[in-house]
Amino acid sequence: MADKKLVEQITSREEDFAQWYTDVVKKAELTDYSSVKGFMVIRPAGYAIWERIQYELDTRFKATGVQNCAMPLLIPQSLLEKESEHVEGFAPEVAWVSYGGSKRLEERLCVRPTSEVLFCDYYSKVVKSYRDLPQLLNQWCSVVRWEKTTRPFLRTREFLWQEGHTVHATAEEAEERTLLMLNIYADVLENELAIPVVKGRKTDKEKFAGAIATYTVEALMHDGQALQCATSHNFGDGFAKAFDVQYLSKENKIEAVHQTSWGITTRTIGALIMVHGDDSGLVIPPRIAPVQVVIVPIQQNKEGVLDKAYALKDELLKAGIRVKVDDSDKTPGFKFADGEVRGIPLRLEIGPKDIEKDQAVLVRRDNREKIVAELSGLTVEVEKLLKAMQKDMYDRALAFQKERTTDAKNLDELVASLDKKPGFVRAMWCGCRDCEDKLKEYSGITSRCIPMEQEEISDSCVVCGKKATKMVYWGRAY
Ligand code: AMP
Ligand code: ZN
Repeated sequence: MADKKLVEQITSREEDFAQWYTDVVKKAELTDYSSVKGFMVIRPAGYAIWERIQYELDTRFKATGVQNCAMPLLIPQSLLEKESEHVEGFAPEVAWVSYGGSKRLEERLCVRPTSEVLFCDYYSKVVKSYRDLPQLLNQWCSVVRWEKTTRPFLRTREFLWQEGHTVHATAEEAEERTLLMLNIYADVLENELAIPVVKGRKTDKEKFAGAIATYTVEALMHDGQALQCATSHNFGDGFAKAFDVQYLSKENKIEAVHQTSWGITTRTIGALIMVHGDDSGLVIPPRIAPVQVVIVPIQQNKEGVLDKAYALKDELLKAGIRVKVDDSDKTPGFKFADGEVRGIPLRLEIGPKDIEKDQAVLVRRDNREKIVAELSGLTVEVEKLLKAMQKDMYDRALAFQKERTTDAKNLDELVASLDKKPGFVRAMWCGCRDCEDKLKEYSGITSRCIPMEQEEISDSCVVCGKKATKMVYWGRAY
Protein backbone atom coordinates (compact mmCIF):
# COMPACT_ATOMS: atom_id res chain seq x y z
CA MET A 1 0.00 0.00 0.00
CA ALA A 2 1.05 3.52 -0.68
CA ASP A 3 2.03 5.56 2.33
CA LYS A 4 -1.06 7.57 3.35
CA LYS A 5 0.72 10.49 4.91
CA LEU A 6 2.29 11.64 1.67
CA VAL A 7 -0.89 11.27 -0.30
CA GLU A 8 -3.24 12.86 2.21
CA GLN A 9 -1.64 16.24 1.76
CA ILE A 10 -3.04 16.52 -1.75
CA THR A 11 -6.49 18.10 -1.88
CA SER A 12 -8.87 16.07 -4.04
CA ARG A 13 -9.48 17.32 -7.57
CA GLU A 14 -13.22 17.40 -7.18
CA GLU A 15 -13.10 19.25 -3.87
CA ASP A 16 -10.91 22.17 -4.99
CA PHE A 17 -9.20 21.94 -8.36
CA ALA A 18 -7.04 25.03 -7.90
CA GLN A 19 -5.74 23.82 -4.56
CA TRP A 20 -5.21 20.34 -5.98
CA TYR A 21 -3.02 21.88 -8.71
CA THR A 22 -0.95 23.83 -6.19
CA ASP A 23 -0.56 20.73 -4.01
CA VAL A 24 0.62 18.57 -6.92
CA VAL A 25 3.15 21.16 -8.08
CA LYS A 26 4.51 21.29 -4.56
CA LYS A 27 4.44 17.59 -3.64
CA ALA A 28 5.94 16.51 -6.96
CA GLU A 29 8.69 19.08 -6.28
CA LEU A 30 8.24 20.78 -9.63
CA THR A 31 8.64 24.41 -8.58
CA ASP A 32 9.25 26.66 -5.64
CA TYR A 33 8.27 30.28 -5.08
CA SER A 34 10.95 32.95 -5.37
CA SER A 35 11.46 36.35 -3.81
CA VAL A 36 9.77 38.15 -6.71
CA LYS A 37 6.06 37.50 -7.27
CA GLY A 38 5.36 35.55 -10.43
CA PHE A 39 8.94 34.37 -10.88
CA MET A 40 9.36 30.69 -10.10
CA VAL A 41 12.16 28.36 -9.26
CA ILE A 42 11.88 25.33 -11.54
CA ARG A 43 13.17 22.44 -9.48
CA PRO A 44 15.04 19.50 -11.03
CA ALA A 45 11.91 17.32 -11.35
CA GLY A 46 10.14 20.11 -13.23
CA TYR A 47 13.13 21.04 -15.33
CA ALA A 48 13.67 17.43 -16.38
CA ILE A 49 10.17 17.41 -17.90
CA TRP A 50 10.95 20.67 -19.70
CA GLU A 51 14.17 19.18 -21.08
CA ARG A 52 12.23 16.24 -22.50
CA ILE A 53 9.69 18.60 -24.11
CA GLN A 54 12.55 20.72 -25.46
CA TYR A 55 14.24 17.71 -26.98
CA GLU A 56 11.12 16.53 -28.79
CA LEU A 57 10.42 19.99 -30.19
CA ASP A 58 14.00 20.90 -31.03
CA THR A 59 14.55 17.68 -32.99
CA ARG A 60 11.42 18.31 -35.03
CA PHE A 61 12.28 21.99 -35.64
CA LYS A 62 15.75 21.08 -36.88
CA ALA A 63 14.32 18.44 -39.21
CA THR A 64 12.55 21.31 -41.03
CA GLY A 65 15.76 23.32 -41.41
CA VAL A 66 15.49 25.55 -38.33
CA GLN A 67 18.73 26.59 -36.59
CA ASN A 68 19.13 27.87 -33.04
CA CYS A 69 20.69 31.19 -32.07
CA ALA A 70 20.66 33.66 -29.17
CA MET A 71 19.43 37.24 -29.17
CA PRO A 72 20.03 39.86 -26.47
CA LEU A 73 17.88 40.07 -23.35
CA LEU A 74 17.27 43.81 -23.67
CA ILE A 75 15.50 45.89 -26.31
CA PRO A 76 16.04 49.66 -26.66
CA GLN A 77 12.73 51.53 -26.32
CA SER A 78 13.07 53.10 -29.77
CA LEU A 79 13.44 49.69 -31.41
CA LEU A 80 10.39 48.31 -29.60
CA GLU A 81 8.33 51.26 -30.76
CA LYS A 82 9.01 50.82 -34.47
CA GLU A 83 5.94 48.67 -35.06
CA SER A 84 2.96 50.45 -33.50
CA GLU A 85 0.43 47.63 -33.12
CA HIS A 86 3.06 45.40 -31.52
CA VAL A 87 4.21 47.98 -28.98
CA GLU A 88 0.62 48.84 -28.06
CA GLY A 89 -0.14 45.18 -27.40
CA PHE A 90 2.87 44.64 -25.17
CA ALA A 91 3.25 48.04 -23.45
CA PRO A 92 1.16 47.12 -20.38
CA GLU A 93 3.29 44.02 -19.75
CA VAL A 94 6.90 45.11 -20.16
CA ALA A 95 9.55 45.52 -17.50
CA TRP A 96 12.11 48.27 -17.97
CA VAL A 97 15.77 48.74 -17.14
CA SER A 98 16.59 52.40 -16.48
CA TYR A 99 19.93 52.21 -14.75
CA GLY A 100 23.32 50.77 -15.66
CA GLY A 101 25.16 50.61 -12.34
CA SER A 102 24.38 53.92 -10.70
CA LYS A 103 24.03 55.84 -13.97
CA ARG A 104 20.65 56.60 -15.46
CA LEU A 105 20.53 55.31 -19.02
CA GLU A 106 19.87 57.78 -21.83
CA GLU A 107 17.43 55.35 -23.36
CA ARG A 108 15.33 52.89 -21.37
CA LEU A 109 15.81 49.22 -22.19
CA CYS A 110 12.94 46.79 -22.09
CA VAL A 111 13.38 43.22 -20.89
CA ARG A 112 12.21 41.17 -23.90
CA PRO A 113 8.57 40.07 -23.65
CA THR A 114 9.13 38.40 -27.06
CA SER A 115 11.83 39.14 -29.61
CA GLU A 116 10.22 40.00 -32.96
CA VAL A 117 11.91 43.38 -33.06
CA LEU A 118 15.35 41.96 -32.28
CA PHE A 119 15.05 39.38 -35.04
CA CYS A 120 13.76 42.05 -37.43
CA ASP A 121 16.65 44.31 -36.62
CA TYR A 122 19.05 41.44 -37.28
CA TYR A 123 17.33 40.29 -40.48
CA SER A 124 17.34 43.85 -41.82
CA LYS A 125 21.13 43.59 -41.77
CA VAL A 126 21.71 40.08 -43.08
CA VAL A 127 18.97 39.72 -45.68
CA LYS A 128 20.04 41.36 -48.93
CA SER A 129 18.95 39.17 -51.81
CA TYR A 130 16.58 36.32 -52.57
CA ARG A 131 19.59 34.04 -52.02
CA ASP A 132 19.49 34.92 -48.30
CA LEU A 133 15.97 33.57 -47.95
CA PRO A 134 14.41 31.88 -46.15
CA GLN A 135 15.94 32.56 -42.73
CA LEU A 136 14.76 29.98 -40.22
CA LEU A 137 15.91 30.83 -36.69
CA ASN A 138 14.82 29.85 -33.21
CA GLN A 139 15.98 30.63 -29.70
CA TRP A 140 15.43 28.86 -26.38
CA CYS A 141 15.33 31.47 -23.66
CA SER A 142 13.16 33.12 -21.05
CA VAL A 143 11.04 36.22 -21.49
CA VAL A 144 9.34 38.57 -19.05
CA ARG A 145 5.72 39.75 -19.16
CA TRP A 146 4.39 41.63 -16.14
CA GLU A 147 1.24 39.55 -15.65
CA LYS A 148 -1.29 40.64 -13.02
CA THR A 149 -2.34 37.21 -11.80
CA THR A 150 0.13 34.35 -11.80
CA ARG A 151 0.09 30.56 -11.31
CA PRO A 152 3.09 28.20 -11.49
CA PHE A 153 3.72 27.17 -15.12
CA LEU A 154 0.35 28.42 -16.41
CA ARG A 155 1.01 32.10 -16.15
CA THR A 156 4.28 33.38 -14.77
CA ARG A 157 5.99 36.71 -15.17
CA GLU A 158 9.12 35.06 -16.45
CA PHE A 159 8.71 31.88 -18.47
CA LEU A 160 10.95 29.58 -20.43
CA TRP A 161 10.07 29.10 -24.06
CA GLN A 162 11.30 28.85 -27.57
CA GLU A 163 10.55 31.55 -30.06
CA GLY A 164 11.02 30.80 -33.73
CA HIS A 165 11.25 33.65 -36.20
CA THR A 166 11.41 33.12 -39.93
CA VAL A 167 11.44 35.34 -43.00
CA HIS A 168 10.43 34.26 -46.48
CA ALA A 169 10.28 35.53 -50.04
CA THR A 170 6.57 34.92 -50.50
CA ALA A 171 3.34 35.17 -48.56
CA GLU A 172 2.52 31.54 -49.42
CA GLU A 173 5.79 30.30 -47.96
CA ALA A 174 5.21 32.25 -44.73
CA GLU A 175 1.70 30.84 -44.35
CA GLU A 176 3.01 27.34 -45.03
CA ARG A 177 5.69 27.73 -42.34
CA THR A 178 3.15 29.10 -39.83
CA LEU A 179 1.02 26.00 -40.26
CA LEU A 180 3.99 23.63 -40.38
CA MET A 181 5.08 24.79 -36.93
CA LEU A 182 1.52 24.64 -35.57
CA ASN A 183 1.43 21.02 -36.69
CA ILE A 184 4.68 20.30 -34.88
CA TYR A 185 3.16 21.67 -31.67
CA ALA A 186 0.07 19.52 -32.17
CA ASP A 187 2.25 16.48 -32.87
CA VAL A 188 4.34 16.89 -29.71
CA LEU A 189 1.31 17.67 -27.55
CA GLU A 190 -0.72 14.72 -28.83
CA ASN A 191 1.91 12.06 -29.43
CA GLU A 192 4.42 12.85 -26.66
CA LEU A 193 2.35 14.59 -23.98
CA ALA A 194 -0.85 12.62 -24.75
CA ILE A 195 -2.84 15.87 -24.79
CA PRO A 196 -5.48 16.05 -27.54
CA VAL A 197 -5.76 19.53 -29.07
CA VAL A 198 -8.08 21.52 -31.25
CA LYS A 199 -6.17 23.29 -34.01
CA GLY A 200 -7.52 26.54 -35.27
CA ARG A 201 -7.17 30.20 -35.99
CA LYS A 202 -7.63 32.97 -33.43
CA THR A 203 -10.23 35.66 -34.03
CA ASP A 204 -8.91 39.18 -34.61
CA LYS A 205 -9.69 40.04 -30.98
CA GLU A 206 -7.51 37.20 -29.68
CA LYS A 207 -4.68 37.34 -32.20
CA PHE A 208 -1.11 38.41 -31.47
CA ALA A 209 -0.28 42.12 -31.61
CA GLY A 210 0.99 42.87 -35.12
CA ALA A 211 0.07 39.52 -36.71
CA ILE A 212 -2.21 39.09 -39.71
CA ALA A 213 -3.10 35.58 -38.53
CA THR A 214 -2.53 33.68 -35.28
CA TYR A 215 -3.02 29.93 -35.15
CA THR A 216 -3.39 28.05 -31.88
CA VAL A 217 -3.60 24.64 -30.31
CA GLU A 218 -6.23 24.56 -27.55
CA ALA A 219 -6.60 21.82 -24.97
CA LEU A 220 -9.18 21.04 -22.31
CA MET A 221 -8.11 20.68 -18.69
CA HIS A 222 -9.73 18.27 -16.26
CA ASP A 223 -11.89 21.02 -14.73
CA GLY A 224 -13.31 21.84 -18.17
CA GLN A 225 -11.36 25.05 -18.65
CA ALA A 226 -9.49 25.60 -21.89
CA LEU A 227 -5.77 26.28 -22.17
CA GLN A 228 -4.01 27.84 -25.12
CA CYS A 229 -0.98 25.56 -25.41
CA ALA A 230 1.03 27.22 -28.19
CA THR A 231 0.66 29.79 -30.95
CA SER A 232 2.02 30.31 -34.43
CA HIS A 233 1.78 33.71 -36.12
CA ASN A 234 1.89 34.95 -39.68
CA PHE A 235 3.00 38.60 -39.76
CA GLY A 236 2.66 39.21 -43.45
CA ASP A 237 5.05 42.01 -44.42
CA GLY A 238 4.02 44.50 -41.72
CA PHE A 239 7.10 44.10 -39.55
CA ALA A 240 9.32 43.89 -42.62
CA LYS A 241 8.10 47.29 -43.76
CA ALA A 242 8.50 48.83 -40.30
CA PHE A 243 12.02 47.42 -39.98
CA ASP A 244 13.17 47.59 -43.60
CA VAL A 245 13.69 43.88 -44.00
CA GLN A 246 13.92 43.88 -47.77
CA TYR A 247 15.59 41.85 -50.46
CA LEU A 248 16.48 42.08 -54.10
CA SER A 249 14.37 39.58 -55.99
CA LYS A 250 15.44 37.45 -58.97
CA GLU A 251 13.70 40.02 -61.11
CA ASN A 252 15.88 42.72 -59.57
CA LYS A 253 13.08 44.33 -57.61
CA ILE A 254 13.21 45.43 -53.97
CA GLU A 255 10.65 43.40 -52.01
CA ALA A 256 9.63 43.17 -48.34
CA VAL A 257 9.98 39.74 -46.71
CA HIS A 258 7.08 37.78 -45.23
CA GLN A 259 7.52 36.80 -41.63
CA THR A 260 6.38 34.26 -39.04
CA SER A 261 6.92 33.59 -35.34
CA TRP A 262 5.88 30.69 -33.14
CA GLY A 263 6.26 29.84 -29.46
CA ILE A 264 5.54 27.27 -26.79
CA THR A 265 6.33 27.67 -23.10
CA THR A 266 6.69 25.97 -19.73
CA ARG A 267 2.89 26.35 -19.59
CA THR A 268 2.76 22.93 -21.27
CA ILE A 269 3.89 21.39 -17.97
CA GLY A 270 0.80 22.95 -16.39
CA ALA A 271 -1.29 21.37 -19.13
CA LEU A 272 0.29 17.98 -18.50
CA ILE A 273 -0.54 18.26 -14.79
CA MET A 274 -4.14 19.34 -15.36
CA VAL A 275 -4.95 16.84 -18.09
CA HIS A 276 -3.42 13.72 -16.56
CA GLY A 277 -2.94 14.23 -12.82
CA ASP A 278 -5.12 12.50 -10.23
CA ASP A 279 -5.74 12.59 -6.48
CA SER A 280 -2.41 10.84 -5.80
CA GLY A 281 -0.42 13.41 -7.77
CA LEU A 282 1.18 13.72 -11.14
CA VAL A 283 0.78 11.15 -13.93
CA ILE A 284 3.38 11.64 -16.66
CA PRO A 285 2.85 10.06 -20.08
CA PRO A 286 5.65 7.50 -20.62
CA ARG A 287 7.08 9.10 -23.75
CA ILE A 288 7.74 12.42 -22.00
CA ALA A 289 8.58 11.05 -18.52
CA PRO A 290 12.16 11.78 -17.44
CA VAL A 291 12.00 8.58 -15.38
CA GLN A 292 9.79 5.89 -16.90
CA VAL A 293 10.37 3.11 -14.39
CA VAL A 294 11.22 3.27 -10.70
CA ILE A 295 12.56 0.07 -9.26
CA VAL A 296 11.64 -0.39 -5.60
CA PRO A 297 13.62 -3.11 -3.85
CA ILE A 298 11.62 -4.94 -1.18
CA GLN A 299 13.60 -5.98 1.91
CA GLN A 300 16.59 -4.39 0.31
CA ASN A 301 18.91 -5.36 3.15
CA LYS A 302 18.48 -9.04 2.32
CA GLU A 303 21.37 -10.42 0.38
CA GLY A 304 21.09 -10.17 -3.38
CA VAL A 305 18.07 -7.85 -3.54
CA LEU A 306 19.88 -4.59 -4.33
CA ASP A 307 22.23 -6.39 -6.71
CA LYS A 308 19.24 -7.76 -8.58
CA ALA A 309 17.61 -4.31 -8.65
CA TYR A 310 20.77 -2.78 -10.18
CA ALA A 311 21.06 -5.63 -12.68
CA LEU A 312 17.46 -5.08 -13.82
CA LYS A 313 18.15 -1.37 -14.09
CA ASP A 314 21.11 -2.04 -16.38
CA GLU A 315 19.04 -4.36 -18.49
CA LEU A 316 16.28 -1.79 -18.96
CA LEU A 317 18.78 1.01 -19.56
CA LYS A 318 20.33 -0.99 -22.37
CA ALA A 319 16.94 -1.09 -24.06
CA GLY A 320 16.77 2.71 -23.88
CA ILE A 321 14.28 2.83 -21.01
CA ARG A 322 14.72 5.69 -18.53
CA VAL A 323 14.93 3.94 -15.17
CA LYS A 324 16.13 4.52 -11.63
CA VAL A 325 16.43 2.44 -8.47
CA ASP A 326 15.01 3.96 -5.31
CA ASP A 327 17.65 2.60 -2.92
CA SER A 328 17.08 5.23 -0.25
CA ASP A 329 16.56 4.04 3.35
CA LYS A 330 12.82 4.84 3.29
CA THR A 331 10.15 2.13 3.59
CA PRO A 332 8.75 0.54 0.42
CA GLY A 333 5.37 2.13 1.25
CA PHE A 334 6.94 5.57 1.26
CA LYS A 335 8.74 4.87 -2.00
CA PHE A 336 5.52 3.71 -3.66
CA ALA A 337 3.75 6.93 -2.67
CA ASP A 338 6.74 9.00 -3.71
CA GLY A 339 6.83 7.42 -7.16
CA GLU A 340 3.09 7.97 -7.48
CA VAL A 341 3.13 11.62 -6.48
CA ARG A 342 5.93 12.25 -9.01
CA GLY A 343 3.92 10.52 -11.72
CA ILE A 344 6.49 7.88 -12.69
CA PRO A 345 4.65 5.67 -15.24
CA LEU A 346 5.75 2.24 -13.96
CA ARG A 347 6.84 0.85 -10.62
CA LEU A 348 8.84 -2.33 -10.53
CA GLU A 349 8.91 -4.19 -7.22
CA ILE A 350 11.59 -6.79 -6.64
CA GLY A 351 12.10 -8.71 -3.36
CA PRO A 352 13.52 -12.03 -2.15
CA LYS A 353 10.32 -13.92 -2.98
CA ASP A 354 10.23 -12.48 -6.47
CA ILE A 355 13.86 -13.37 -7.04
CA GLU A 356 13.13 -16.93 -5.95
CA LYS A 357 10.35 -17.16 -8.50
CA ASP A 358 12.29 -15.31 -11.23
CA GLN A 359 9.65 -12.62 -11.45
CA ALA A 360 8.95 -8.97 -10.67
CA VAL A 361 5.79 -7.04 -9.93
CA LEU A 362 4.96 -4.14 -12.24
CA VAL A 363 2.37 -1.47 -11.35
CA ARG A 364 1.02 1.06 -13.83
CA ARG A 365 0.66 4.58 -12.46
CA ASP A 366 -2.40 5.54 -14.49
CA ASN A 367 -4.79 2.68 -13.63
CA ARG A 368 -2.77 0.90 -10.91
CA GLU A 369 -2.94 -2.35 -12.83
CA LYS A 370 -0.59 -4.92 -11.29
CA ILE A 371 1.27 -7.33 -13.55
CA VAL A 372 3.51 -10.17 -12.46
CA ALA A 373 6.20 -10.47 -15.12
CA GLU A 374 8.78 -13.18 -15.66
CA LEU A 375 12.28 -11.77 -15.45
CA SER A 376 13.26 -13.46 -18.70
CA GLY A 377 10.82 -11.32 -20.66
CA LEU A 378 10.98 -8.23 -18.48
CA THR A 379 12.22 -5.65 -20.99
CA VAL A 380 9.61 -6.63 -23.55
CA GLU A 381 6.86 -6.49 -20.93
CA VAL A 382 7.97 -3.07 -19.69
CA GLU A 383 8.07 -1.71 -23.25
CA LYS A 384 4.64 -3.11 -23.89
CA LEU A 385 3.17 -1.57 -20.75
CA LEU A 386 4.70 1.86 -21.41
CA LYS A 387 3.27 1.84 -24.90
CA ALA A 388 -0.17 0.77 -23.70
CA MET A 389 -0.17 3.39 -20.98
CA GLN A 390 0.76 6.15 -23.43
CA LYS A 391 -2.13 5.16 -25.69
CA ASP A 392 -4.64 4.77 -22.87
CA MET A 393 -3.76 8.18 -21.46
CA TYR A 394 -4.33 9.83 -24.81
CA ASP A 395 -7.56 7.92 -25.41
CA ARG A 396 -8.89 8.86 -21.98
CA ALA A 397 -8.06 12.53 -22.48
CA LEU A 398 -9.68 12.49 -25.92
CA ALA A 399 -12.81 10.79 -24.59
CA PHE A 400 -12.99 13.44 -21.87
CA GLN A 401 -12.58 16.23 -24.41
CA LYS A 402 -15.32 14.76 -26.61
CA GLU A 403 -17.63 14.24 -23.67
CA ARG A 404 -17.09 17.88 -22.68
CA THR A 405 -17.68 19.33 -26.13
CA THR A 406 -21.24 20.37 -26.86
CA ASP A 407 -23.00 22.34 -29.59
CA ALA A 408 -25.18 25.38 -29.03
CA LYS A 409 -27.56 27.26 -31.30
CA ASN A 410 -28.30 30.28 -29.12
CA LEU A 411 -26.87 32.26 -26.23
CA ASP A 412 -28.93 30.58 -23.52
CA GLU A 413 -27.88 27.15 -24.68
CA LEU A 414 -24.24 28.19 -24.82
CA VAL A 415 -24.09 29.66 -21.32
CA ALA A 416 -26.23 26.93 -19.75
CA SER A 417 -24.06 24.28 -21.31
CA LEU A 418 -20.83 25.81 -19.99
CA ASP A 419 -22.30 26.32 -16.54
CA LYS A 420 -23.61 22.78 -16.32
CA LYS A 421 -20.73 20.94 -17.92
CA PRO A 422 -17.62 23.12 -18.31
CA GLY A 423 -15.75 22.41 -21.54
CA PHE A 424 -15.82 23.53 -25.16
CA VAL A 425 -18.98 24.71 -26.82
CA ARG A 426 -19.11 24.74 -30.59
CA ALA A 427 -21.33 27.49 -31.97
CA MET A 428 -21.66 29.74 -34.97
CA TRP A 429 -20.40 33.34 -35.07
CA CYS A 430 -21.05 36.30 -37.35
CA GLY A 431 -17.42 37.46 -37.32
CA CYS A 432 -18.07 40.65 -35.38
CA ARG A 433 -16.02 41.77 -32.42
CA ASP A 434 -19.01 43.13 -30.49
CA CYS A 435 -20.46 39.65 -30.13
CA GLU A 436 -17.19 38.36 -28.66
CA ASP A 437 -16.99 41.31 -26.24
CA LYS A 438 -20.56 40.72 -25.17
CA LEU A 439 -19.94 37.06 -24.30
CA LYS A 440 -16.82 37.94 -22.38
CA GLU A 441 -18.53 40.65 -20.32
CA TYR A 442 -21.67 38.66 -19.84
CA SER A 443 -20.13 35.42 -18.73
CA GLY A 444 -16.33 35.33 -19.03
CA ILE A 445 -16.55 33.19 -22.14
CA THR A 446 -13.95 33.67 -24.87
CA SER A 447 -13.51 32.40 -28.38
CA ARG A 448 -10.83 29.73 -28.24
CA CYS A 449 -10.39 29.30 -31.97
CA ILE A 450 -11.99 28.98 -35.37
CA PRO A 451 -11.16 25.30 -35.92
CA MET A 452 -9.54 24.11 -39.12
CA GLU A 453 -12.33 21.60 -39.48
CA GLN A 454 -15.50 23.59 -39.95
CA GLU A 455 -19.07 22.37 -39.58
CA GLU A 456 -22.33 24.23 -39.99
CA ILE A 457 -24.21 23.91 -36.71
CA SER A 458 -26.78 26.54 -37.64
CA ASP A 459 -26.90 29.53 -39.96
CA SER A 460 -27.04 32.32 -37.39
CA CYS A 461 -24.61 33.86 -34.89
CA VAL A 462 -25.00 32.44 -31.40
CA VAL A 463 -24.94 35.94 -29.90
CA CYS A 464 -26.67 38.39 -32.27
CA GLY A 465 -28.64 36.01 -34.48
CA LYS A 466 -27.31 37.58 -37.68
CA LYS A 467 -25.93 35.50 -40.51
CA ALA A 468 -23.03 33.36 -39.29
CA THR A 469 -19.81 32.85 -41.20
CA LYS A 470 -17.76 30.58 -38.97
CA MET A 471 -18.01 27.85 -36.40
CA VAL A 472 -16.06 28.72 -33.26
CA TYR A 473 -14.91 26.81 -30.18
CA TRP A 474 -15.92 28.81 -27.10
CA GLY A 475 -15.00 28.29 -23.48
CA ARG A 476 -13.67 29.67 -20.25
CA ALA A 477 -9.92 29.66 -20.28
CA TYR A 478 -6.87 29.85 -18.02
P1 AMP B 1 2.64 34.61 -27.61
O1 AMP B 1 4.01 35.03 -27.93
O2 AMP B 1 1.87 35.66 -26.86
O3 AMP B 1 1.88 34.05 -28.77
O4 AMP B 1 2.78 33.42 -26.56
C1 AMP B 1 3.14 32.13 -26.92
C2 AMP B 1 2.52 31.14 -25.96
O5 AMP B 1 3.03 31.39 -24.67
C3 AMP B 1 1.03 31.28 -25.75
O6 AMP B 1 0.34 30.55 -26.72
C4 AMP B 1 0.80 30.73 -24.37
O7 AMP B 1 0.54 29.34 -24.44
C5 AMP B 1 2.12 30.96 -23.68
N1 AMP B 1 2.10 32.03 -22.66
C6 AMP B 1 1.66 33.31 -22.82
N2 AMP B 1 1.81 34.02 -21.67
C7 AMP B 1 2.36 33.17 -20.77
C8 AMP B 1 2.76 33.31 -19.39
N3 AMP B 1 2.63 34.46 -18.73
N4 AMP B 1 3.28 32.20 -18.77
C9 AMP B 1 3.44 31.05 -19.44
N5 AMP B 1 3.09 30.87 -20.72
C10 AMP B 1 2.56 31.91 -21.40
ZN1 ZN C 1 -22.94 38.11 -33.93
